Amino acid sequence: MLLSRLQKPAGLSVTLCLYLLALPANVLAESSENTQQTQSSREILLAELAEDESVQDVEQSEPLQGSRTSGKKTTPEIKSIQPEAAPTPNKVAPDIDLKEVAPAPAPEPPAEPGGDKIPDSTATEAPPEEAAPEPEKAEPASDLILLGNEVLPGTSTRLAWSPGIQIAGLSQPTPVLVVNGANTGPTLCLTSTIHGDELNGIEIIRQTLYDLDPAKLSGSVIGIPIVNLSGFQQGSRYLPDRRDLNRYFPGNPNGSLAGRIAHSLFTNIIQHCDMLVDIHTGSLKRTNLPQLRADMNNPAVAEFTRGFDRMAVVHSSGSPGMLRTAATDAGIRAVTMEAGESLRVQEHQIDAGVNSLASLMEKQDMVSRMFVWGNPEPVYYDSTWVRADHGGILFSDVKLGAKVSRGQVLGYVADPITNAQHPIHASSDGRIIGMAVDQVVMAGFAAYHIGTEAKIPGE
Ligand SMILES: [Zn+2]
Repeated sequence: MLLSRLQKPAGLSVTLCLYLLALPANVLAESSENTQQTQSSREILLAELAEDESVQDVEQSEPLQGSRTSGKKTTPEIKSIQPEAAPTPNKVAPDIDLKEVAPAPAPEPPAEPGGDKIPDSTATEAPPEEAAPEPEKAEPASDLILLGNEVLPGTSTRLAWSPGIQIAGLSQPTPVLVVNGANTGPTLCLTSTIHGDELNGIEIIRQTLYDLDPAKLSGSVIGIPIVNLSGFQQGSRYLPDRRDLNRYFPGNPNGSLAGRIAHSLFTNIIQHCDMLVDIHTGSLKRTNLPQLRADMNNPAVAEFTRGFDRMAVVHSSGSPGMLRTAATDAGIRAVTMEAGESLRVQEHQIDAGVNSLASLMEKQDMVSRMFVWGNPEPVYYDSTWVRADHGGILFSDVKLGAKVSRGQVLGYVADPITNAQHPIHASSDGRIIGMAVDQVVMAGFAAYHIGTEAKIPGE
């Protein structure tokens, strides 16, 4: 038995080797045909891949306005979107201690029109005994109605969101963690992994939510650790149709797959938020210093960014279709938080994110925990990408977070064939707030993101 199991792979690998030996001629012949046939589509793909949100977002950003008037264009369609009618009657969500290990969720029942139900229906628990009110905030909170459930004040629970795009019964609901505080206050939403390969935010949300005591919370916190579940399962940034979900908000119920998912998320959850932090990482082997991307031309957003401890803030007006742009247009104070690189779980970056969200909740009077503020991080309103001018292998001389001066050599692109070394120089004084990890690059690849300190508007 054991032997036959062992022999099988060996036999297979021999076959595979033979097959591979026979391959090159065929492959060469085929690939030269393919090269011509798919040249145009490959160019499109490369163009799409070469410019990620981090780079494009910054380069296409509207300049920071001198005046404090909000230059924000309003998007009329957004206003017309109404939250989908809540299914009635709502059921009381079970009170779950998020710190405790949960049983694995049951498969989702077939979708019912108009609502997402959580599989577990141990729904009607007695309301928890009244939490001791905080001395300074005695105003009790009301129920939070979300995804067809009533989350009672002073309780936390796990809900499920389904955009309803799968075959009925096959879809996997996306977990939504909710903590509804005993006392009244704002609703803070945390989203992560809209790009399925960006992992640090999942852990940032877990640590943040599981550390909250509903009895001591004013307001509520809604966390969606993995928005793009299918991308996450495949280690892909994109949706199954190769679209970037973060270009389709606030969505369209009759649109593409991405548009429908975006619409469902936006109407079912995001429109319940007063504040939104959408957590991302660098893409395409680029890493980011923990930082916020925020439209500093919007006074409410600019003020919002001051609640984050030890975070650089990069002014970026945002691209159409981004969740933070759509949320801001709908009157929600929203920022993107960037931390680290994709496909990795990075403790240092996660700690920075968790710390900063803790400071935010204190700043918004949602928790009181004697938060120790660090030295205020310099705020960057301006940033530029420095690109490689040659193809080759990129080797960096600088580290993430390094202070650099104009003209300084940041790294080299080494041509492995000619042995030429092409230095890359800093275009301005500033700090490396994002950079590519060492890798093979082509000319034009955005390699270093330099943040330039600017003064806070109005000061
Ligand atoms: Zn992202």
